[in-house]
Order: sequence, then structure tokens, then C-alpha cells
Amino acid sequence: MAIREGKWRCPYCAVVNRGAQMACIGCGATRDADVRFFLEDDAAEVTDEALVARGRTGADWLCTFCGASNPPPLDHCRNCGAEKGAAPSRAVRDAPPAPLFPPARPPTAPAPPGRLRPWAVALLLVAVAFVAAAAYLGLRRTEETLTVAGFEWERRIAVEAWRTVREQAWEGRVPSAARIVSRRQEVHHTERDQVGTRRVKAGHRDLGNGFFEDVYSDEPVYRERPVYRTRVAYDVQRWVPDRTVRASGRDQAARWPEPALRPGEREASRAEKLVVVLQGKKTYRMELPEARWNALQPGQSVSAVIRGGWSVLELHP
Ligand SMILES: [Zn+2]
Ligand SMILES: [Zn+2]
Repeated sequence: MAIREGKWRCPYCAVVNRGAQMACIGCGATRDADVRFFLEDDAAEVTDEALVARGRTGADWLCTFCGASNPPPLDHCRNCGAEKGAAPSRAVRDAPPAPLFPPARPPTAPAPPGRLRPWAVALLLVAVAFVAAAAYLGLRRTEETLTVAGFEWERRIAVEAWRTVREQAWEGRVPSAARIVSRRQEVHHTERDQVGTRRVKAGHRDLGNGFFEDVYSDEPVYRERPVYRTRVAYDVQRWVPDRTVRASGRDQAARWPEPALRPGEREASRAEKLVVVLQGKKTYRMELPEARWNALQPGQSVSAVIRGGWSVLELHP
């Protein structure tokens, strides 16, 4: 696995040093336990054999007397000569691929305050006034006495017929009464099969001596595989919409239309619309339930609550 040389920033003079350096090139301070190594994004793979070997010798040990870093092969501190003894080693730890020292982001300047030109302000005020006036006029409720001027009605009956229809379904979901027309193989769904693994770079490992090692992980590689099932086309008898018959008029004698059902037909649903025409300063139309519609008399005066001058909300005879 590839070895890359990291860097470290001197805690005393802030000079950035190469990972191989045991003392700061700026002030001469030895790299002690406070020093943290980092790897730059573009750090090249180390090819020099001596440096690779140094990277692989293991983590530095830290002298218990003077704090200096020492490579593992040394028995005595290269700084003060003290014996290694039970001196602690730097930690070896995995790091994410992101750099330890991300580049500082420039502070985002606040947007300059927007300045509206006088004509834009005037246009905005006109628009606001227009919307407010429209809302007021559209929602305003007024009372008015209206005269029952006429009636309109429409009644509809939907008719269904028992017919042969062609449908499709997956094998096993075909209705038992169906007559099979054809069978063929079609893609029912796809499944994912793992066909191998792929090595991907997952980050790097701080070797505790100024060098880093690439860390890889194995990711599964999948392939989509279509799964075929039998698709069946069949004929089956079903109730299907056939026609709608309607009756309408401009009187108060609402009636249901005659559907004239033939053999193999049935009534599916009924719907009606009963409207009273009301005359005031203008003409209004209002839909009513049958009992209230029937109770109105032609020429009768009613008081009405009108919204926005165009729709009748309530009627009080
Ligand atoms: Zn320094
Ligand atoms: Zn020492």
C-alpha cells in the first residue's frame, strides 16, 4: 500500500515542516507530543526506498525526559541520550480522506442593501392596493332581496353493459372465468447480483512518524438481472360503462330519464343538478337540494346573502 509523506506545523513558530524532519527547520524545536501530522490532498506517493522504509518502521516513541520524537530502532533518545525504557509511542490512527487542515474559507460579504427606485415603489403600492381591493370585493358579503325567476334541472343515469373485455395479468392472477388468449415471457422485475468487489480508497492512516499509508476498502459490485415471468392475455366478462342518458328542463317538473335497458345492461349510478334562477340587480343561479328546490314558488321573494356580488351563499324565504 502506498506511503505518502505528511507535514507538521511547529507549535512554537508555525513553520510547516516535512514529515521526515525530527526538528523544526524554523526554530529548531524538537517535535514533541503536541505536534499533529497532516496529509495534503496532493501529497505524492513516496518512491525513495529509504523514506518508504522509514515510513514502515513504526510510530515514533516520545522521550519521557525531554519529549523528543525518536524512530523505533533507536534505544536512546537522539536529543538527550536517555534510555527508551517504557517510553510511549505516538498513536497510529485512520483519518478520513479530507485534509486535517482545510483551506480557510473567505468570509462571505453581506449583500449590499437593495435600493428601490421611486417608480418601482409606486408600482408596488398600486399592485398592493389592487390586490387588497380585489380581495375585499371578492369576499364582501351583501344582502339583497331576489325574486325566483325560473328553474333549471338535469338528471343523469349511467348505464353499464356486461361485455367481453381483453385484459392482461401475471400468471397466477388471471380470473378463473377468463378465456386465455396468449402467453409470453416479459420482464417482471430486476434483481441485483453481486458479481465481485472493487477496491476503493477509503482514506489514509497516520503512521505516527510523519508518514501516512493509503487505506482501501472493498466495495461490492452489482449487476442488474431481469427476472422474467409469464404475462397472460385473456378475455373476461365484466360490467363496463356504456352510456349516460339524461333529461333536462327549464321548469320545476324534474324527472329521471328512461334508460331503456336492454338485456345485459344495468343502471350504474344516478346524479342530478337542480338550479334556481334568481333575479335582482343581476341574475344569479344557485344549486339546491331537491326538497328546498321543490319548496320554492315562481315569483316568490327571498332574501339572499351574496358574496363578492356574484355568488349566492344563502337563501331565506
Ligand atoms: Zn519552529
Ligand atoms: Zn530525550
